[in-house]
Amino acid sequence: MSHDHSGAILAAAAFAAEKHRNQRRKDADASPYINHPIALANVLANEGGVSDQTVLCAALLHDTIEDTETTAQELQARFGPQVTGVVLEVTDDKSLEKHVRKQLQIEHAPHISNEAKLVKLADKICNVRDILASPPADWSAERKQEYLNWAARVVAGLRGIHPGLEAVFDGLVKGA
Ligand code: NDP
Ligand code: ZN
Repeated sequence: MSHDHSGAILAAAAFAAEKHRNQRRKDADASPYINHPIALANVLANEGGVSDQTVLCAALLHDTIEDTETTAQELQARFGPQVTGVVLEVTDDKSLEKHVRKQLQIEHAPHISNEAKLVKLADKICNVRDILASPPADWSAERKQEYLNWAARVVAGLRGIHPGLEAVFDGLVKGA
């Protein structure tokens, strides 16, 4: 490795852990929320071979604005404009209805930056893995299938940036 990015990456992990400290995932065990952003960064680095600091920091921070009180200004001050920009690109507008947000993810995917595409692809890989291994307890088989179908439509718009991670996603859906 030509640069040591561990300081910035660990600062992002620590910041996300603090912001998500009171949140849990929707699985039956109500796992700590921070497991999910860490899983994204882990998939990118260790399954995707991604070493880009902006991408790894944005992966760790990707749900902070959407799911906590974190503001873009706060991210900007601590992590700079590039990381903040990528996080904003993968942040849903929560003033919109859920079905609209889901449709917009499909429509926006082809138009976001390559850095944001990598974060979004890792997010879909991790969420589909969760749906298959530790889904929300009250989700029917039909509801899980619906989620897989939607995730595949988002990923269709992300293709061409990382064939290896795209194949990881395809393997999950195929094996489902
Ligand atoms: P979501 O699609 O929002 O739930 C999935 C999201 O929850 C993921 O994208 C992930 O987001 C987060 N998440 C947290 N824990 C887990 C986990 N263990 N496994 C997977 N994902 C997890 O579901 P909603 O309940 O908000 O409903 C959204 C849509 O579902 C609606 O548009 C509706 O049409 C449909 N629906 C279908 C029903 C059915 O029975 N078929 C019933 C009700 C709704 P993140 O990465 O951001 O944390
Ligand atoms: Zn996420």
